[in-house]
Amino acid sequence: MEIVVIGAGLAGVEAANVITKFGIKVKLFEMKPKKFSPAHKIDNFAELVCSNSLKSKLLTNASGLLKEEMKVFGSLVMEAAEATSVEAGQALAVDRYKFSEYITQRIKQNGLISVIHEEVTEVPRDKVVVVSTGPLTTESLLSDISKLCNSKNLYFFDAAAPIVLKDSIDFSKAFFASRYNKGSNDYINCPMTKEEYERFYWELVNAEVIEVKDFEKDLLFEGCMPIEEMARRGIDTMRYGPLKPVGIIDPRTGKMPYAVVQLRKDTQDGKLYNMVGFQTRLKWGEQKRVFRLIPGLENAEFVRYGVMHKNSYINSPEVLTKYLFLKKYPNIFFAGQITGVEGYLESASTGIIAGINAARQILGKEPISLPPNTCIGALIEYITTPKKDFQPMNANYGIISIDDEISKIKDKEKRKLLIAQKSLNICRELANKIFE
Ligand code: FAD
Repeated sequence: MEIVVIGAGLAGVEAANVITKFGIKVKLFEMKPKKFSPAHKIDNFAELVCSNSLKSKLLTNASGLLKEEMKVFGSLVMEAAEATSVEAGQALAVDRYKFSEYITQRIKQNGLISVIHEEVTEVPRDKVVVVSTGPLTTESLLSDISKLCNSKNLYFFDAAAPIVLKDSIDFSKAFFASRYNKGSNDYINCPMTKEEYERFYWELVNAEVIEVKDFEKDLLFEGCMPIEEMARRGIDTMRYGPLKPVGIIDPRTGKMPYAVVQLRKDTQDGKLYNMVGFQTRLKWGEQKRVFRLIPGLENAEFVRYGVMHKNSYINSPEVLTKYLFLKKYPNIFFAGQITGVEGYLESASTGIIAGINAARQILGKEPISLPPNTCIGALIEYITTPKKDFQPMNANYGIISIDDEISKIKDKEKRKLLIAQKSLNICRELANKIFE
């Protein structure tokens, strides 16, 4: 009795961990540290390749609900996130190194999991397998997956933000504060005057970028729009987006700045900070030149530059069931961003469901699914329902089904809280049955 899990990312570690709760052994294949994708840099599992934020903790935000649902199913990722969190106001952000370290230790200490550090190039057809190799799955495996699914893989482009060494920031200009004083001054703010903003804007839109082919330009994912791409939409677009100044007062002037660049703590010790919303495909030299025009960042040392990647995913509405196994191969499960969910926790949550169903299959039990009035259920329903132009999906209240009782509630916050309450009851009931 053994299940193969391919890829020890956010989804893979959840799948492996939950499978062992049923007393089943796991062979976990991970190509790091022998081989790295262009975005992965550290040896440990469950690496957060870009932002260190796992988004809102509030139940009025679907991300908050997703977190609570995952906890009901014993999520290892949530356990690690809570153990390694850094201050980020109402968001849950983590020290990315401690987070990965925590998860790696837990996986390696689990006597039922054996880890094999190898690149997998073909999905075994004759075993129960969970494929969770993420959006940057290696080309050879992608081509095998394409054969397996008898369908072309889909893709879009995504970009990551730069990380700055805190000691290199000039605090005679930058200052700590949280928007509207919510949270405990968790962000470093770099205020800009109108002149400074306009100078930065023009340098940004004219800076050299790593070119993408024309036909690929439309594929830039709206949820992770490069900063220069956003800037091109209009001189004020950034001031209504990541550079918005509302709720922030510059202590030097006592006034709201014209624009503000925010940086969020990236490590618990506070040595590294992430430029919020600054995912980019500017060439590295250009990033240094243009981002150093931001007041306070004139001598910034970038420990990681922003990068851009092609993200692949399967055509889940065509090939995947709501139990997360392939229609054509019921022994082959898919989980994580490769299924077309978008986001760290979204990916991890599908790992839990795929893992539970893979284990149930070995045990000869019926697969389970969550209904679309839960956040995880809604995400899986979204990716497995036929649609014309299938694009990756984040957790959001818009995709969660509501009943008549809820639709009558006019107050949006109250409505979301009731959805959350009902959803968590469903999850608890199912979890009790599964793990009894
Ligand atoms: P991953 O976490 O990528 O894990 C896949 C694992 O499989 C990796 O460890 C990899 O080494 C391994 N692997 C790959 N191919 C093979 C193979 N052939 N054999 C063996 N092992 C293999 N989401 C957010 O919520 N916030 C963000 O800020 C964010 N930024 C992103 C930035 C970039 C550049 C990218 C690419 C994605 C970003 N995402 C972000 C999206 C998504 O949440 C992450 O990609 C997430 O890590 C997906 O989890 P996963 O488990 O599906 O894949």
